[in-house]
Amino acid sequence: MKCEIIKDLLPSYIDGLTSSESNLEIEEHLKNCHQCREIFEQMQTEIKVENTLYNKEKIKPFKKLNRRIFQAVIITLIGCAMVVGSYVYLFGLGWKVNSADMNIGYTYKNGKILFEFELTNGRVLNSWSNVDKSNRIIKFTECFSSSLDDRGKHPNQFTYGIHCTDNNGNIREFANNDCVILHFKDKTETFYLKEIAEELGIQ
Ligand SMILES: [Zn+2]
Repeated sequence: MKCEIIKDLLPSYIDGLTSSESNLEIEEHLKNCHQCREIFEQMQTEIKVENTLYNKEKIKPFKKLNRRIFQAVIITLIGCAMVVGSYVYLFGLGWKVNSADMNIGYTYKNGKILFEFELTNGRVLNSWSNVDKSNRIIKFTECFSSSLDDRGKHPNQFTYGIHCTDNNGNIREFANNDCVILHFKDKTETFYLKEIAEELGIQ
């Protein structure tokens, strides 16, 4: 075969499109013709480079897509966390109460001093109490809520009772430092039980 014919056939040969008969002739020719062999080798490397470029271009959009999906997932997760967080904050745990928004009263009933708290700003009252030695600590928060209590109102009241009698039913005396501490946003209020018991005529 002439070199010109071989050169024309080489691209098809590289792509595997030539017949086995032509292949034999081309291979035979390449063995003996230095010039055609050089052209053949050059063509092969060009195709390899083309292929790697093609693959890279093919891979890149996938990488971009993966990154976009990753970002979308992260943004979605952050969004969900913010929604859940806001919901817990606005309708659950709430925020601290201003002392001006709270009515505080205390009475003596059935052997107990009853502290009665009422939130007056229309929001829901949450309260947590714990006793630390002689301190009874009550923390208040307020939040929004769509639920109503048995009075058909937003739950805005809280009653805190303190027993004034011992196991034998006798009035017990409060220590000087026995107190109820209320935590508000703007201040902390302390009620000494001995003073309150005297005021209510218990002791
Ligand atoms: Zn040749």
